[in-house]
Amino acid sequence: MFDLTANLDRLNQQGLYRSRRIIESPQGINLICDGKPVINFCSNDYLGLANHSDVVNAFKSAADKYGVGSGSAHLICGHSSAHHALEEELAEFTGRERALLFSTGYMANMGAISALMGRGDTVIEDRLNHASLLDGGMLSGAKFKRYSHADTDHLNEILDKATGNKLIVTDGVFSMDGDTAPLQALSAVAKKHSAWLMVDDAHGLGVLGENGGGILEQTGLKQDDVQVFVGTLGKAFGTFGAFVAGSEELIETLLQKARPYIYTTALPAAIAEATRTSLKIIQTENWRREKLRKLTERFRAGAGQLGLPLMASSSPIQPVLVGQSEKAVAVSNALFNSGFLVSAIRPPTVPVNAARLRVTFSAQHEEQQIDQLLEALAKALA
Ligand SMILES: *Cc1c(COP(=O)(O)O)cnc(C)c1O
Repeated sequence: MFDLTANLDRLNQQGLYRSRRIIESPQGINLICDGKPVINFCSNDYLGLANHSDVVNAFKSAADKYGVGSGSAHLICGHSSAHHALEEELAEFTGRERALLFSTGYMANMGAISALMGRGDTVIEDRLNHASLLDGGMLSGAKFKRYSHADTDHLNEILDKATGNKLIVTDGVFSMDGDTAPLQALSAVAKKHSAWLMVDDAHGLGVLGENGGGILEQTGLKQDDVQVFVGTLGKAFGTFGAFVAGSEELIETLLQKARPYIYTTALPAAIAEATRTSLKIIQTENWRREKLRKLTERFRAGAGQLGLPLMASSSPIQPVLVGQSEKAVAVSNALFNSGFLVSAIRPPTVPVNAARLRVTFSAQHEEQQIDQLLEALAKALA
């Protein structure tokens, strides 16, 4: 029998109930949230492009040219010249032969893994991978294994016994922890076992690397080191959507076989056009990444002085580990009352007893705001 009320009550008692706050302002660091002005420290709009005037104007003029809806899936009549140009630019940006746009990162991951892998194959994932990668592995019907976080020895052991085609899958920058995958080592292990390596750099692309090329630019790994690369456009790009980049054959395979690509409406052409403008800003405005680095260093130094429980991250994702879900929610609410929006991340998004406040920075923040956040955090955690 369905007893939804009892289930909901249980979630509530465990501090695991999820609810939404309502935003009435554009995205950015200053939000009107549930009617209250707050400084935003939980967005993935790292570079501050979600409401950038050039990006907004590109969107508006593309809507004049293409309208709003894309009318159908890419393979029917929804693939516009804006989508096509963006794919070519993303391929060049990531140093891959081709790129293929997906409507969301969730769908890109589900689509890529399930198109490449099947019964008799083995998908091997980092234990802390994003939910969409784990779900893609399960959807594929392949044998599904997880290795301890960033542990290449454990990965090696699993690969020794793996059968069929072998795909190693990892976040580039881990979304809830902020640390980076040991890509060079993963690539070496992959080669040793003739496995492929798939990297989802949702939080690194635009943020890491001199030109914003993410973890690929930082590590210099090429198409035959990381055969399947996934980037998302809703984070540092400030728009919406995602893409897979790789060889000509990979992209043609996804076009034929990735069901979350084939059976869904193409994202609006105006979004693609706005994203082309974001890409130009990402490639030319290095100061945004510099600023993020400065803010991150200031936060870590200040948090260290205050004895706050930081994690081993040098990215703009700076989680403050709390442990208990109820406590994380209480601290998040206290911060909200002092004018700061920081979300509490709880299981099953993170492991049990590892609830945290996921603090993130934007190039639009000022150093003074970091200091104010630190003060409020120290008070709320005391
Ligand atoms: C956000 C995220 C996704 C999902 O991307 P969407 O475009 O929001 O669906 C996939 N992978 C990782 C690591 C993410 O953080």
